[in-house]
Amino acid sequence: MKKLMAANWKMYKLAGEAGETAAALRARLDGKLPADREVLVIPPFTALGTTGQALAGAAGFALGAQNFYPSKQGAFTGEIAPDMLLDAGCAYALAGHSERRHILGEDDAMVGRKVGFGLAAGLAMILCVGEKIEERQAGQVEAVLARQLAAGLAEVPADVSPDKLAVAYEPVWAIGTGLTAGPAEVADAHKVVREHLIERFGPQTGAAVRILYGGSVKLGNAGELLGIDNVDGVLVGGASLEAESFSAIVTA
Ligand code: PEP
Repeated sequence: MKKLMAANWKMYKLAGEAGETAAALRARLDGKLPADREVLVIPPFTALGTTGQALAGAAGFALGAQNFYPSKQGAFTGEIAPDMLLDAGCAYALAGHSERRHILGEDDAMVGRKVGFGLAAGLAMILCVGEKIEERQAGQVEAVLARQLAAGLAEVPADVSPDKLAVAYEPVWAIGTGLTAGPAEVADAHKVVREHLIERFGPQTGAAVRILYGGSVKLGNAGELLGIDNVDGVLVGGASLEAESFSAIVTA
């Protein structure tokens, strides 16, 4: 399975700028994308068109969405449906990002609904999990991950294809703070996630579902993080906004 190198552009970039960054990323990686790497760009909704156009036909690149509402269509003002994202060229979507959990009030049950609904609609889903600093200090990392994984994967069919599901371990205290979890902390948390996946989906699928690390990933730490057991990719926020820094991370 290729390592998944994901760029989360959050609420940054107007459509034109996003298209330019995606085109610059493509130009930098053209012919240089390692065979074991897949690049995923996750722009704001309004930039899906320009980003998708810039990446169209580029081998090893995919487009993703940051969020959706788990319904086919309907009277949900301000929301967007998985079918609309597929129509815009998205192959992937995030669910349970810490900013949605802790700023926008999304609970475990809603995250689980999104993962199940997105998969059924045809999107590959990336379930984000991770503890807050006070939970880590209280020795609750394993318990928090177990709770978020159980709820987040509750509606995933037992026979899910491993290329349709990924988990991103993102300690909340490391997102956008410049703090990165140390190698031992990352290895321990990813082992907990791997064991949960194997218990939930069996040894074959459980071993093949990719587990990404996210939290202040940059060029200086990407190589080391990618060398840790059970780290099958990275989810990058701040350092993915510039083509120069993200392309260097992709090839780290
Ligand atoms: C993220 O957006 O998921 C993230 C990890 O952000 P940053 O890399 O800026 O910490």
